[in-house]
Formats: sequence, C-alpha cells, structure tokens
Amino acid sequence: MRIQQLFSDAAINKEILELNVYCANQGCSWRSILKDFEEHQEPCEYALIPCNIGCGHMVLRKALACHLEKACPNNMSVFLACCRSMGPSELQKNPLPGFL
Ligand SMILES: [Zn+2]
Ligand SMILES: [Zn+2]
Repeated sequence: MRIQQLFSDAAINKEILELNVYCANQGCSWRSILKDFEEHQEPCEYALIPCNIGCGHMVLRKALACHLEKACPNNMSVFLACCRSMGPSELQKNPLPGFL
C-alpha cells in the first residue's frame, strides 16, 4: 500500500526518473538517468536479440550481421548458394540476392 502511494506521487516519480542507472547488457558502458533507459535499449549494441531469420540463437545486436554471414545455420544454404552463382561484383549490384 505505502509503496503504491509513493509511486503514484508525481513529484517522487520525477525523482525516480532522474536516478542514475547503467545498462544491464554485458559489455555496454552506457550510463544515464532512468528516464533515458528505455530509449537506450532499442539501439543498444550489446542487447541480446533473437536471430532475425529465426535460427533460434540469441545474438548481440552488434554481432548480428556477422552471425548472419558466418554462423547462422538458417542462412548457410542461402549464403553458399549466393557464392556459387555470383561473384563479388555481382553481389554488389544485388545486395540481397538470397531473399529474392
Ligand atoms: Zn546498453
Ligand atoms: Zn541465425
């Protein structure tokens, strides 16, 4: 009861929003106030996100491109198929050949 009353108090809420916090993602050095915390989670490079083509792995956001290129089991056949049928110069003209 008492805690709920505290949190519903607008002035106290403002104080809480200005508490110093740090990002909980391992390796991230972001520090700021609580108010900015949610905004940081979206672009945080150290956030663990599920592989975006669904191989089931959790990958650091900053490592996702590398995962898709080199380590993703779901992407492997696409990757090999691209390499077989196109040289590097052709790949540049068609940035997403595997998804067409
Ligand atoms: Zn972070
Ligand atoms: Zn994957």
